[in-house]
Formats: sequence, structure tokens, C-alpha cells
Amino acid sequence: MSISVHGLRERGRGPGWLRLFALLAGALLAFGRARADCVDLPFPDLHPLEALEDVDANHALAKAQALIRAARDDHATAAPRLAALYAISAESSSILELDADARQTALRGLQLATPDDNPVSLSLLISYAETVYDTPGLKAQVDKLATVAARQPHGSPGSVCLLKTLGWLQHRLNQDDVAVGTLTNAYRDSALPALARQRARVAEALAMVMDGMGDFDQALDLMQQTLAWEQEHHAVQLLSVTRYLRGAVLLEKGDYQVALAEFDEARGLARALADQQGIAYADLRICEARIRLGQSAIGRPSCQAAEAVFAAAGVKDLVKQARALLAHADLDAGQSAAALATLNDVLDQGGADIVPRAVPQLYELRAQANAASGNYHAAYADLREYVRRAHAVSDADRARSGSVLRARFRVDSEIERNLSLQSELRLTRESSALQREQLQRRTEVLGAGVGLVVLLVYVLLTNLGHRRQLQRMAREDSLTRLPNRRRTAELATAALAEAMSANCPLTIALIDLDHFKLINDACGHAVGDRVLKDLATASRAMLRDGEVLGRWGGEEFLMLLPAQPLDLALARVETLRAAALEIALPENARAAGLRVSLSAGMATSYEGASSLDEIIARADVALYEAKKQGRNLVRVADESLQASTTAIRRALRAR
Ligand code: GH3
Ligand code: MG
Ligand code: MG
Repeated sequence: MSISVHGLRERGRGPGWLRLFALLAGALLAFGRARADCVDLPFPDLHPLEALEDVDANHALAKAQALIRAARDDHATAAPRLAALYAISAESSSILELDADARQTALRGLQLATPDDNPVSLSLLISYAETVYDTPGLKAQVDKLATVAARQPHGSPGSVCLLKTLGWLQHRLNQDDVAVGTLTNAYRDSALPALARQRARVAEALAMVMDGMGDFDQALDLMQQTLAWEQEHHAVQLLSVTRYLRGAVLLEKGDYQVALAEFDEARGLARALADQQGIAYADLRICEARIRLGQSAIGRPSCQAAEAVFAAAGVKDLVKQARALLAHADLDAGQSAAALATLNDVLDQGGADIVPRAVPQLYELRAQANAASGNYHAAYADLREYVRRAHAVSDADRARSGSVLRARFRVDSEIERNLSLQSELRLTRESSALQREQLQRRTEVLGAGVGLVVLLVYVLLTNLGHRRQLQRMAREDSLTRLPNRRRTAELATAALAEAMSANCPLTIALIDLDHFKLINDACGHAVGDRVLKDLATASRAMLRDGEVLGRWGGEEFLMLLPAQPLDLALARVETLRAAALEIALPENARAAGLRVSLSAGMATSYEGASSLDEIIARADVALYEAKKQGRNLVRVADESLQASTTAIRRALRAR
């Protein structure tokens, strides 16, 4: 069987399979390979024809059709055998992505196949179901398969195969939580050696669902089982596909080097089978792995080869994937204009025709191409789109993973109630590992988004002279990490407005370190800096919700104490004053009688009357009083000076 375009594009059709990081790897991870030979057809002489499907579906289809025509002409073939030929024909059509043909052929076969649940009719039923993609059709097929599956003897090949397809259709409907349950049942039901072949297929389907949920290790484990069966049975064509899929999981997991080896292996096998499509898929991923490894120049020819094959076959979404990777390589090579042109083309439908999961990274890539080409506005727009879409993907992913985990626990408790504690522990470990990974991915997304924004801001500022924008953005004092003066003033204005509307007092304290010049002179500027930082640290330890200490300038600070009476606010400032006394100075300074202390002046807002300037002015007057009275003191404003103007204040200070 060739790597079915039909199967591999499958995920692109559904809206919600999700996960981050690998640019496009997931796009090709889908697996929907309808395999009639899950159920054994009871005609041993047709087995070679079934096997041919796996090697050359076109050839198998032509042969099956010829046999059907001959059978119709001579009327000598019994209906069940004719139905079996339809089953092979339907399956081959399905592999070749001739969905309508496959369904029509399957329906013809079903009219001939009797009784109801014989292997041939089950095979036809499966072929039909696996070529349905529209949501109402999928729902109808899910109901149908569930009903038929319930009729099968538990653990029979028919039951396992139906469950496998049922699970796969649920996955197609984006119901991975349900799909995991169904496929886990099928997996456990196929534990007997006689069902090893079915189990290999179920393991592969389950692996793909687990991969979609970000459980890469589980997916790789399951795939290993499929691989073992295929190796043992020299199923070279299947092996090529499984190696490819394994490479794609590894690519998503970030093991690029190992992934590359798997893709090379898959390509070698596809070449031995003269499977051009298989080669093209492998080439596409080899190119991607090279790009991830920072070797985009080496990867480029592989992408070009894949693009040519997909273009000739008219598979547009895969052509776009190849082109997106080529744009990546262009960007790596500094050819931003070429990259931009390609990406504009790839995103011409806003990503609607691309696998949803791959779309955020395409916007990120175009943001880079735009930034490198000097189109900063467009770069920002792309960045915003990237962050928006990446968050949507990550949120949906998290929700889905959660429900899948719940489903897995549910399935386990139903089926393996008596399992040992060890198994439960394993599941718990898996669960927390998955959560850790999700968190990490989320952080990666945020980190990537923020990092790129910072980079672009930097580029903007240096290239476009937007220095003022940077200054505006900086709200923090770089030495103490406290809000700087601009930010403190903003916070004070907001606090005052809040106090007015809530009819609560707002107390402001203006704080100034005592004899700071002497400390600088005696101990050096670095020690002075350290003292400022220590005071900030002390304040952070004591500040409560809503309280703010901002650096007002030099060794002056402004404290906001909202919604508390003046006596309590006074106690808060006294606490900071006491903390300042604890700040250490070098021995020689202490010996010379120096210590760190602060003076503070406090003032409170009055109902309806206070402006920020006026309150600060009163606090300043009180501060002046504290200094005058010997420092290391907190003084509350003399309310008679309520109306003192800045001029009066300045005059007082100047004396
Ligand atoms: P007073 O008790 O009257 O406030 O005396 P003072 O020495 O603290 O006041 P003055 O205004 O004379 O000196 C303030 C000093 O604070 C002068 C200046 O060098 C120092 N200063 C301002 N900002 C910084 C800073 O970021 N780091 C250091 N190390 N010193 C600073
Ligand atoms: Mg000062
Ligand atoms: Mg001072």
C-alpha cells in the first residue's frame, strides 16, 4: 500500500486536532489507512490480491475490477465471492483516495454479501465507513459501526476491526476522549496471539490518537509494536509507512536526528517499492528535519523534489506545506523577500486550507519575513495573529488532553478493576508527565510570542528611532525594580480616583533617606545603590494589597496607602522606617556613626477636595518638618497647610 494521500490529509479536514511546536510535522501524521485485511476474507485464493493492495493499489484495483467483470459475464461466481472482490476493489479505491468510488463499490458488495455479519460484509462496512469525511455522514457511520460491533462476539477479529474503525471515525469527529476509550478496548481485546495482525493495526491507530494528544512516548511505544509485527512479517510497504509515521512523532517530540534516520529509512523502503508518493512524503519530512537541525541548505532539494511530486499529483495542501518549508529555508538564507512572497501565497486563504495546528507557526514565520523585510506593521499584525491562534490551539489542546486522560482512567477502571497498584502508579506518572509537558508547551508558546515581540520592538526602536516608545514602555526603575516616577504618578492618580469614588481616604507618604550624600561619600556610590535596593526589598516584604512604594527620584520614594485611616497608615510607614534602620552599612561607616534611616511626611486626601499635587505638597511639607526635627521621623501634614502651594512648599524647603 502506498502512503495514502487520503489518509495523510485526513487531519486537515477536521477543525480541532491540535498541538504545538513542530511546524508541520503533525500535518502528515494522520493515518486513516483503510485496510480491508483487518478482517480476513474467507477466500484463500484472493489473499495474494489482498496483499497486492499493500504494494500497488492501482494494480490491485485493476485486477479486482477485471475479476468482477468476468464473474458478471459468466454468472459462475457465487455471490459471496463476488462480494469479496467488491471488498478488495472498494479497499483499493479507498487507498487511492477515490472516496466516492470506494463507497459505491462497497454498497454494491453489501447488496451481495449475506448473511449480515460475515467477514466480507464487515470488511465492506469498514471500507465504506473509512471513506466518509462529512460530519453528518461520520455520525451516521459511528452509530452503524457501534451497533454492528455490539453484535460481534467479544474479542473476535470482526469486533476488534470494527472497534478500530469506530475509534478512528471518532477521532475524525474530534472526539479523542471517546476514541481513546474505543481503541483501548480494541487494543486489549486483541491481546491473543491469533489477533496479532489486528492488534498491530489497532496499536497504530491508538498511537496516532495519543500522538495527537501530545503523549509522544506512548505513541512511540505503540508504534514499536506495529513495527515489530511488520518486521516479523516482512510487510515492507507497511514498514515504510510506519517508519515514516514514527519519524513524524519523533519530529514533533523534537528528536530531529532520530527522526531524520527514520525518514531516510522510510524513503529507502519506498524507493525499493518504486513508491513515488512514499518518496515524496519522506522527502518533505527530511527537508523539515534538516531545517530543524539548522541545515536548511541541505534540506532544500528534498523540499523541492516533494513539491514537484505533489504539484504533479494536484495535491494542493501538500504543495503548500512544501512551499512553507522552502520559505523557511529562504529566510534562513537571508532571502526575506522570496520567503515573504511564498508565505503570502501559502496564507492566501488565511490558513483555512491548511491544517489548523500548522497555521500559527506560518504566521510567526511570516512575521519574521516581514520584519526582515522592514514591514514592521505587517510583522506586528502577523505576530498578533500568531499569538492569538497559538493560544487557541494550546487551550483547545489542553482541554482535549484533559478529557483524554479522564477517558483513559475511566477505561482502565472499567476493564482492569483488578489491576495492580503498579499500573495505577504508571498512569498517574503518565498523567503528570503529560501535564508537565503541556505546561512547558504553553510556556514555549508564550515565550516564543513574547521573545519575538521584544525582538521586533528592539528592531523597531533601533531601525526607526522610536526611542520614546521604549521609554514610555519602561515603567520600572531599573535599580530598585520599583515603579518609576511616571508609573508611580499613574498609580497614585488611579488610587486617588478610586478613593474618591469609594469615599475612602488615600494616604500618601513622601519618604526621603537621611544624609544619603554622607553615605555615598563615606562608602561609595555602589553601597548607596545597594542601600536603595535593600529598602525596595524591605518594602516588598511588607507591602499589602493595594499599597505601593514607587521611586520618586534619587533617594526619594512615594508610598500609597489606600483605604485605611490615618493612624493605621502611620503605622505602615513606621514599619518601613524601622526596616530602614535594619539595612546594614560597612563597618567603617558604622564606626563613623552612620546608619541608614529615613524621614517621611504623610498627608491624606479629603473628601472631594484633594488633588494629587496638593496632597503631595502637604506630604512634602510634613517631610520637611521631619527633617527639621532631627530626621529618622515620620510626620503627618499640618492640615492647616492644606492649601499650601508648590511655591510655598519650595520656599519652605529652600530656607
Ligand atoms: P537629607 O537627609 O537632607 O535628605 O540629606 P541627603 O544627603 O540625603 O540629601 P541630598 O539631597 O543632599 O543628597 C541626596 C543624595 O542622594 C545625593 C545623590 O548623589 C544621592 N543619590 C541620588 N540618587 C542616587 C542613586 O541612584 N544612587 C546613589 N548611590 N546615590 C544617589
Ligand atoms: Mg532628597
Ligand atoms: Mg535625603
